[in-house]
Amino acid sequence: MALIVQKYGGSSVADAESIKRVAKRIVDARRAGHDVVVAVSAMGDTTDELLDLAHAVAPIPAPRELDMLLSSGERISMALLAMAIHSMGFEARSFTGSQAGMITTAHHGAARIVDVTPVRVREALDEGAIVIVAGFQGFNRDTRDITTLGRGGSDTTAVALAAALDADVCEIYSDVDGIFTADPRVVPNARKLSVIGAEEMLELAANGAKVLYIRAVEYARRHGVMIHARSTFSSGVGTFVLGPGMTVPAGVEGAEGEEMEEPIVAGVATDLSQAKITVIGVPDVPGKAAEIFKIVARSGANVDMIVQNVSAAATGRTDISFTLPKADASAALRALADEQPQVGFESLVHDDQIGKLSVVGAGMRAHSGVSATLFEALSAAGVNIEMISTSEIRISVVVRGDELADAARVVHTAYGLDGDTEAVVYAGTGR
Ligand code: ASP
Ligand code: MG
Repeated sequence: MALIVQKYGGSSVADAESIKRVAKRIVDARRAGHDVVVAVSAMGDTTDELLDLAHAVAPIPAPRELDMLLSSGERISMALLAMAIHSMGFEARSFTGSQAGMITTAHHGAARIVDVTPVRVREALDEGAIVIVAGFQGFNRDTRDITTLGRGGSDTTAVALAAALDADVCEIYSDVDGIFTADPRVVPNARKLSVIGAEEMLELAANGAKVLYIRAVEYARRHGVMIHARSTFSSGVGTFVLGPGMTVPAGVEGAEGEEMEEPIVAGVATDLSQAKITVIGVPDVPGKAAEIFKIVARSGANVDMIVQNVSAAATGRTDISFTLPKADASAALRALADEQPQVGFESLVHDDQIGKLSVVGAGMRAHSGVSATLFEALSAAGVNIEMISTSEIRISVVVRGDELADAARVVHTAYGLDGDTEAVVYAGTGR
């Protein structure tokens, strides 16, 4: 008998029928003899609808009240799920984040979990109940207010509960079958992985893969939680995200006992959410990059890739390009334009038609030629590379946004990642 934490995303509990289907899955795990704790997201697009409502009554909703509002989405789904389980003859008890002991920082809308004290969860489990916890929310001890963890925060709720309860596995259910070698919507013959290393998963999530949220993967790695990403719509085994020393538990058909292999390339991630800003004609003297990026940081933008050109000897000036989330671009541009006279650059160019392609694999550390394969594949496909950046286990390039999907397909093939069949894509959001 194991202790299993399960997380169901909004698309898995979108309506009454789906809630009943999820309830049945939970009851099946209970029938198999396991203790079950469930973290649940708000139904379907509830969170977006609540956000729209808030903005319809106030241009800038008060953060405290916004968290009161948004946290209600998960209260609806948790109570309905518990009722559905009751009607199947099983005991279930729902708890809000604060009742479940999710203690967070005071930062409304982006609170971080600082402690988990699941006293009531334990009591309910000891009394034989299935426990349902509202995802995405917590409580701050100083302000005594309800907080939310940021969009997609239910993954983190589940992982944090799994860590605090020392669960055997944290199953994260969504509308995709697991982690693929690429987004199957972009690369149709992407393969589902049975295992992936936590650090590779982190790099993929940080570079555009949407199946798991980066903060949840990070929390899992730090606290030694094994994640099993799988689909609500099929009973098949999904993908185990393994930290150092973890192996897939016994009895898992098709993956039992598997450990982390170190593939040279585990997967390809694509990201259309970034924009590029080029600062043209920057005086090529010490301190200018520092000035520019201090201004950008103050605007609140989160810079990703940076490239500086070789300066033209004749002018003593250079160009500096960087990428950042599209949503941060206008604030960064405004901030830079305001200080143009002091910094002394010539002009700014904003480009929001870029795409970022990343290849990730822990085996890269030990193998050479990985980047050559990438560049060759892109060149054969006639795709121009605009920027390059690397980490120990990742190579990323910026290309034209409308060439990103083609680029992902040729690169996927070049690394031998193609599967024999087309991946099943359920209609949905990938959450
Ligand atoms: N309901 C929240 C959201 O849509 C949290 C979650 O789904 O994980 O962002
Ligand atoms: Mg949601």
